[in-house]
Amino acid sequence: MAYYSSRLDFFCHLCGTTLIVPSREYAQCPLCKSLRDIQDIRDKEISYTITAEEIRRELGMEIIEEQKVQLSKVNKKCEKCGHDEANFYTRQMRSADEGQTTFYTCTRCGHQSQEN
Ligand SMILES: [Zn+2]
Ligand SMILES: [Zn+2]
Repeated sequence: MAYYSSRLDFFCHLCGTTLIVPSREYAQCPLCKSLRDIQDIRDKEISYTITAEEIRRELGMEIIEEQKVQLSKVNKKCEKCGHDEANFYTRQMRSADEGQTTFYTCTRCGHQSQEN
């Protein structure tokens, strides 16, 4: 896991500074330069729990909250089978620029289309 080199919440046992991981072999205190074997840290990591949200934040991933606003039927001609009824719902992408997207699903063939 690339995870080891990007985050660590382990602290220097001498000065309490958060350790950095310059290689896969050891962790180093950026302040007092003391080294710790990475094996030592991995053992502790087993009992360390982290939420998915924290991982995403650490990795710099955008947290996209999808919200189903509604699901209902509408008269829309399916471009695939010509059926004139589709389910539709809108989704608001909170962190996206384009805002609301409307999704249509044909009630006969299941063909999906979307409109911004
Ligand atoms: Zn230190
Ligand atoms: Zn269809």
